[in-house]
Amino acid sequence: MSMEYKSTRGGAAVNCVEAIIKGIADDGGLYIPSEIPKLDRSLSDLKTMDYRSLAKYVIGKFFPDFTPEELSACVEGAYDEKFSREEIVPVESIEKANFLELYHGPTLAFKDMALSILPYFISTAMKKLSYSDEVVILTATSGDTGKAALEGFKDVNGTKIIVFYPKSGVSEVQERQMITQEGDNTFVVGIDGNFDDAQNGVKEAFNNESFRSALKASGYELSSANSINIGRLVPQVVYYFYGYMELLRAGKVSEGESINVTVPTGNFGNILAAYYAKSMGLPIDKLVCASNENNVLFDFFQTGEYDKNRELKLTISPSMDILISSNLERLLYEISGKDSAKVSEMMESLTKTGKYTLDEDIKSKLEDFYGSYTDEAETLETIKQVYEKHGYVMDTHTAVAYAAYEKYLKETGDDKEMLIASTASPFKFTRSVAGALGLDTEDKSDFELVYELSEKTGLEIPKSIYKIEEREILHKELCKKAEMKEKIKKLLNVGE
Ligand SMILES: *Cc1c(COP(=O)(O)O)cnc(C)c1O
Repeated sequence: MSMEYKSTRGGAAVNCVEAIIKGIADDGGLYIPSEIPKLDRSLSDLKTMDYRSLAKYVIGKFFPDFTPEELSACVEGAYDEKFSREEIVPVESIEKANFLELYHGPTLAFKDMALSILPYFISTAMKKLSYSDEVVILTATSGDTGKAALEGFKDVNGTKIIVFYPKSGVSEVQERQMITQEGDNTFVVGIDGNFDDAQNGVKEAFNNESFRSALKASGYELSSANSINIGRLVPQVVYYFYGYMELLRAGKVSEGESINVTVPTGNFGNILAAYYAKSMGLPIDKLVCASNENNVLFDFFQTGEYDKNRELKLTISPSMDILISSNLERLLYEISGKDSAKVSEMMESLTKTGKYTLDEDIKSKLEDFYGSYTDEAETLETIKQVYEKHGYVMDTHTAVAYAAYEKYLKETGDDKEMLIASTASPFKFTRSVAGALGLDTEDKSDFELVYELSEKTGLEIPKSIYKIEEREILHKELCKKAEMKEKIKKLLNVGE
């Protein structure tokens, strides 16, 4: 059995194996399954499954070109003891708010859920296509994705990974996490610029033909781990199923009863995965899209106009500081009735003018979504309130989601069980969380605050950052932003 993956912009279709290797379609569009697969097992059947079994089932529906044995190896390799909780994704509840804790992986944020399995998909896909080249993953990071990708690709056969980060643009903990990275195939390089410079350097490397052919001649193929790869999206569908089953197991819902979902949103990948779960037949009613002060999506859901012409604000929930939500293109494809000409037109308008407007009939299909946003002061206040009332500690991103949930409840009165995607550990954004809880943060390093936060809340410091300041620094490479290509060649021993 096969399933076609089409480009949102109408270009040639491929199977899932090629879609995973290519990452992005040649016409610049994103790959989407020609049909979103439907559930063909009962909820009571799925209820008996643990995380890994559910992952094999759900991913198998999207990637039928992988054999059950291949898929099983990917899932077992990805979701193992590198997650600190045996259940992989624990669910914690405060009344009808149910926190789907996606942050117990090696880097303490939800990107681990997808980036721990993507490398297995890529190396399996390479084998299936009888690739003899080594795949080099190039990534620019503003902090989170780089570390998650490094952990995921570490020591995966047939791959190397090079991460560029802005030397003065990431937090102390984030930098230390990256430069202490183990693995024989990992490279970490600080550059003398900001995140945009790092990203532009990576894009330039991808688009430079002579550079790519020099690499090719030495047996290297470039690939990317960024969030538009369908191999990152599909594993995210799994945890919405798992969350629902947890509510079913806890007796909080009966079989078939609808729930709502709230997702703190940046690039629109995580919430799109919830939409896919709903489209497959999981009983989800509303999808609450929570933004921070960069509220392009809130305006979009209000007016049907997407307009990125505004100043990017740097907030305390930095992983959501985004003006172009790339994965929204996949939703536009679905709600426009799979009209790739229409999608291309809107994307062209976005490139040229920074905005596009939905036709009325397309706009009416947005009713599954509810947009909301939360400012900085409210975010901090929410962390404080929830801790004082319930003893539950949230990071800044999860707090944006919780605040959206409260607004949704108040405005609509819809009090179905709510699944809240909890995307980062409070220890990952320690300074803001510690401050919100009333700790004195001035003149203290992030490392010190980790201990203080643990002391105050009784939460155990996650193993992956415990005493990280004492670990050996393994990566000291630096380079100028204009010399990234030369640096890559040097690291890979590629001559002129
Ligand atoms: C990436 C990220 C988000 C945003 O997720 P998208 O899929 O880009 O919408 C939210 N919270 C955290 C902690 C993240 O790292």
